[in-house]
Amino acid sequence: MDRASRPLRLFRRTVLASALAAPLIRPSRAQGRVRVAVVGGGWGGLSAARHVRKAIDGAEVTLIEPNRAFFSCPLSIHYIVGERRAESLTFPFDGLIRDGVRHVAERAQMIDRTARVVVTQTQRVAYDFLVLSPGIEYMEEAIPGFAEAQGAIPVGFRAFEQHAVRRALEAHPGGDIVLSVPPVPYRCPIAPYERAALIAQWMDRRGMPGKVILLDLNPEIPIGGPTIQAAFAELYPTRLEHHQGVKIIRVDAQTKRIETNKGVLTYGTASLIPPMRAGSIVRTAGLGDRWAAVTFPNFLSAADDRIYVIGDAVGSTLPKSGHLAYEAGIHVADHIADRVAGRTGPDGDGLPSAICFAFFTLDEAMGVKIDARWNDLTRDIERRAEIDPRINRNAAQAAREWSEAIWAELVG
Ligand SMILES: Cc1cc2nc3c(=O)[nH]c(=O)nc-3n(C[C@H](O)[C@H](O)[C@H](O)COP(=O)(O)OP(=O)(O)OC[C@H]3O[C@@H](n4cnc5c(N)ncnc54)[C@H](O)[C@@H]3O)c2cc1C
Repeated sequence: MDRASRPLRLFRRTVLASALAAPLIRPSRAQGRVRVAVVGGGWGGLSAARHVRKAIDGAEVTLIEPNRAFFSCPLSIHYIVGERRAESLTFPFDGLIRDGVRHVAERAQMIDRTARVVVTQTQRVAYDFLVLSPGIEYMEEAIPGFAEAQGAIPVGFRAFEQHAVRRALEAHPGGDIVLSVPPVPYRCPIAPYERAALIAQWMDRRGMPGKVILLDLNPEIPIGGPTIQAAFAELYPTRLEHHQGVKIIRVDAQTKRIETNKGVLTYGTASLIPPMRAGSIVRTAGLGDRWAAVTFPNFLSAADDRIYVIGDAVGSTLPKSGHLAYEAGIHVADHIADRVAGRTGPDGDGLPSAICFAFFTLDEAMGVKIDARWNDLTRDIERRAEIDPRINRNAAQAAREWSEAIWAELVG
């Protein structure tokens, strides 16, 4: 097989053939005045809200999300390095509202599981079924000095935070740019490496002195290591230093010093990614500690059979991927429709797939696809990964096509 054509094949097979939702929704739709609340208007929540409306005639769907628009993390590195406009990644919720989803533009403050009500600042949203997709939050306390430094060391791994990273890069005063990779599990395992590469290229193109120094707590790159290491060595042999097994002990934004287990370094600009955990609503609702505990294959909370948790907030060996969150939204919409229609039967073993792309130059990327199934005998997830062995232009094109297609599905 032409190695470079693999991501396009993945894209066609996965995105066009199956992931684009309509064909997955059963032709015989459920009916009923069921109330479904969805917390979180990102990849998982938007998908779930839309697909519940498609799968159940008359469903009252309420999306609780403080933002009034969606901002895509995939492709956001192009915005950070000044090669994309923010508008090309930002989409209002108009399509969703046209579909009949009610949007409450507030945070969910607490969930009363006994009364089946989500409480926001001004509303109480009653539900029969609740889907949570609150994404991740940063464990700032894991890096002493980080909380105090935050304004000066933006992270940019959640929607809209990318504006601050771009501003920091534009104001780069010279010297080295220090980035980091958090310990697994974290959002989009290849994304921190993409960021390091494109910022190295950004420095190259401007003829800037200095290096990108990538501090990686993981002893191994979590996925696609050989492809990533080859790209770093070929493209940025002197510009990018990747140090593995490095723990950040303290950061001081005043003196611009980072203390690590392997020594102290100073930086011109830094963007560090702390360890991650599920959005706080998972913990306050008693649905998990660091991550939400769910049962597979249906993403039902282990603590409450009226609540589904999808997306990056879930604790599992599935990768934290927007594509996977999107497919999980369809998955739970189907499951809710089955319950509303009184359809029973075995759950099957299918789990959503993950597709991730990472760029290593503005025009060359790698694609990763992970298929998964639930093994009911071993009570475990089986994964099968396809990874581009080399970065290539087809993968970059596939990434652009994939994102346009999936954004249209989420918010078109
Ligand atoms: C640089 C980068 C590149 C990436 N590339 C890819 C890629 O190529 N492919 C891919 O599949 N994935 C990629 N991802 C990962 C993808 O962005 C995430 O996996 C995806 O966003 C997870 O979706 P989610 O619904 O779990 O969370 P999110 O999309 O983060 O959505 C969570 C939403 O919940 C809201 N929320 C949180 N708490 C509350 C509350 N209490 N009340 C109301 N709302 C709340 C937040 O405001 C947010 O809008 C990338 C990520 C990054 C950072």
